[in-house]
Amino acid sequence: MAIGEHRPTQLVIDRQALRQNIHAEVERLTPGCDLFMVVKANGYGHGAVQVAQAAKDAGARGFCVAILDEALELRAAGFNEPILILGVTSPADAPLMAKEHISATVAAMDWLTEAESYLNLAGTPAPLRVHLGLDTGMGRIGFRNAPDLVAAVDYLTSHATEFEFEGVFTHFSTADDPDDTYFKQQFAKWQTLTKALPRRPRYVHVSNSATSLWHAACNDNLVRYGVAGYGLNPSGTAIQEPFHLQPALSLTSELVYTKRLAAGESVSYGATYTAKEAEWVGTVPIGYADGYERRLQGFHVLVDGQPCEIIGRVCMDQLMVRLPHNCPRGTKVTLIGKDGDQEITLQDVATYCGTIHYEIACGFTSRLPRRYIH
Ligand SMILES: *Cc1c(COP(=O)(O)O)cnc(C)c1O
Repeated sequence: MAIGEHRPTQLVIDRQALRQNIHAEVERLTPGCDLFMVVKANGYGHGAVQVAQAAKDAGARGFCVAILDEALELRAAGFNEPILILGVTSPADAPLMAKEHISATVAAMDWLTEAESYLNLAGTPAPLRVHLGLDTGMGRIGFRNAPDLVAAVDYLTSHATEFEFEGVFTHFSTADDPDDTYFKQQFAKWQTLTKALPRRPRYVHVSNSATSLWHAACNDNLVRYGVAGYGLNPSGTAIQEPFHLQPALSLTSELVYTKRLAAGESVSYGATYTAKEAEWVGTVPIGYADGYERRLQGFHVLVDGQPCEIIGRVCMDQLMVRLPHNCPRGTKVTLIGKDGDQEITLQDVATYCGTIHYEIACGFTSRLPRRYIH
């Protein structure tokens, strides 16, 4: 997709905010506990390489991604830190991961036996670093009982040319919930499974942002820090954050066209909005093709710092807002972020759309240019 460099609509990413959110967490960790910044999905829409650099500057010791291509993007950008792929990869890619010193999440024994044959075919460029994933109640990927886990560790031990047992981890499904009943059950299962381990690998980890913010006692020696690094509260609004999180992302544009509607005239597809009286209307060059959702009809943006309602349907590339008075073409529009004493947060947008800020942030498409400040 072409990047809209010649359109006044952009995502602005504040690197100082990223560094501040990440450094504040690094400072809270007990000595010996590392922070890996989670930069999957293009750094939650913020730009993976730029976020990785800010995280490294703020004290992150490594990175987590979801898929192999995201890990390769970081290697191509020159990052030599540990990188863990959190999702399931193809055993056929084991030699590539080994060569690039990228750590794989392994969730089943048959993956190891298959990967072993690929590694031997390729002449095992280096041992493949493996983190065993444990399913303690997330129900997504991972070993589910002690005998299977022990068999996998024994296999890694007896195939030390091909594999290095580097880590073991689990993922909580309710760490962002004020009710910790299920969290405690998962942690108990984690303790039972890890007690069965024949040996302890370099990294033992359970914590995403929510766990590290609100259940830091469980951290062990690594946290996988994601959404909070971007300045977003993992719980939405359910639990107060332990230190100030500074949102790093803003979305801004400009009015490209304004007009005065007469009473009875309509706006946008379906003519769902009709002016009751004469009013000023501005057009903003952003739409659902940019990830600004069609469901946002009736929500608002800030025009020159003043909240203005989005009227009529959000189109693919444009939307219309009702203005308090005539505003010149080029007037600043803030769709996410602060202008004066007014602010629209990603959380506000997510709440209006009936979803979570994660989904809005990583839904911004590549047509939006990302500009980096500070
Ligand atoms: C995405 C992810 C994280 C990061 O989660 P946040 O809520 O963004 O901190 C950590 N661990 C795993 C396994 C993940 O998939």
